[in-house]
Amino acid sequence: MNNQAKATDTVQPGMGTRVVWEGEQVEHPYNATQTPIIASAAYGYQDIDAWYDIALGKQPGFIYSRMSNPTVAVLEDKLCALEHAESAVAFSTGMAAISGVLHTFLCQGKRVVSTRDSYGGTNKIFEEFLPRQGVEVTLCDTLDTEEIEREIARGCDVVYLETPSNPTLKILDIRRLVDAAKRVGALVIADNTFATPLNQNPLLLGVDVVVHSATKFLSGHGDALGGVACGAETLMAQVRHYREINGASLDPFSAYLIIRGVKTLALRLRQQQASAQALAEYLCSEPLVESVNYPGLPQHPGHAIARAQMRGFGAIVSFVLVGGMDTVVKLLPKLRYAHRAGNLGAVETIYGPARTTSHVENTLEERQALGISEGLVRVSVGIEDTADLLADLRQAFAAVHAQRLQGQGSDTCGRHAEVST
Ligand SMILES: *Cc1c(COP(=O)(O)O)cnc(C)c1O
Repeated sequence: MNNQAKATDTVQPGMGTRVVWEGEQVEHPYNATQTPIIASAAYGYQDIDAWYDIALGKQPGFIYSRMSNPTVAVLEDKLCALEHAESAVAFSTGMAAISGVLHTFLCQGKRVVSTRDSYGGTNKIFEEFLPRQGVEVTLCDTLDTEEIEREIARGCDVVYLETPSNPTLKILDIRRLVDAAKRVGALVIADNTFATPLNQNPLLLGVDVVVHSATKFLSGHGDALGGVACGAETLMAQVRHYREINGASLDPFSAYLIIRGVKTLALRLRQQQASAQALAEYLCSEPLVESVNYPGLPQHPGHAIARAQMRGFGAIVSFVLVGGMDTVVKLLPKLRYAHRAGNLGAVETIYGPARTTSHVENTLEERQALGISEGLVRVSVGIEDTADLLADLRQAFAAVHAQRLQGQGSDTCGRHAEVST
């Protein structure tokens, strides 16, 4: 009996349990069961020696909330545990985390290798900000693994990966690129926003630093901005120092909202990715859809790699509409259960074209160079019932078909053509 009890003690709890309980073993004032929002800029000490020890990091404690805050620390501990990291550093936004990590490890004379498919803001750091600081940036064709390996082998300091990519859902072979990076001693950073720690743990595949936009699935409710970086303590100490000085710290109210959101991540994602699979399959049969991107589709070029390195395919689907922006402006207003907005990962379903969402910072020419079509629509599938989301999409497409037939009718014979279903 004793042995049995021991055996169950060592069983790793499931992710549904871990998102709730990780990082929560902290005693709160008044025995509160929930992490309070500690809205204090600074922390006061009667004992000046103790204050000094805490400032020097010789004793645990808090000095000033740009450096650390008790509410933010709970979130950092939770995400650190979920990513199997030693340490985590929270930022005011996902972009602050990405920018902070890149600037911690890159400076004049260094070289970074990444891919053309990445979040638009990240692409801007690579194209606009790093080069003017004297960093050499090489962006490779995301689907050409051999090209990426060749560029890494030429020598570099950082390899930056985003998989699945926003909004094209391309999949990178993390283990293979980590091997290439290790051969030249490069640090590997991975943006895990689309997968979430539930579906993918890049650190377990050899990546050094994981970054997230906590604004998305981690928060889950579209009401807070945040970001986080996770990795070994030696690396995170440098990232924390960068954040302390440059100042993009997370505020405790947002940290509270994100902690609350993470607790339901497993429940939300289970429903969201079941619907995403159903929507992706339906979209494949829709004549107005030119192509569908979802790693859960067997014909997706990254399907086998996704199966090997992910536990689920996520809740983002993107598709290209026949007729480009013209069809986009007809289809999107007809959807009932949809925000048309530049966010993702929330409980509500959200539709948006790349030109007003992931790549709003880029010009038309830049989007064309990146292979982002004007007819590309991204769907962040919410927690609504699958049947309702499918029916909504079907009725919206049916209405566009009807409109197109009417348009054709009046073009050719000057009167409305009869519309058949
Ligand atoms: C949204 C997003 C970001 C940027 O995060 P913010 O919180 O908006 O700054 C970075 N990477 C990916 C993959 C994203 O989707």
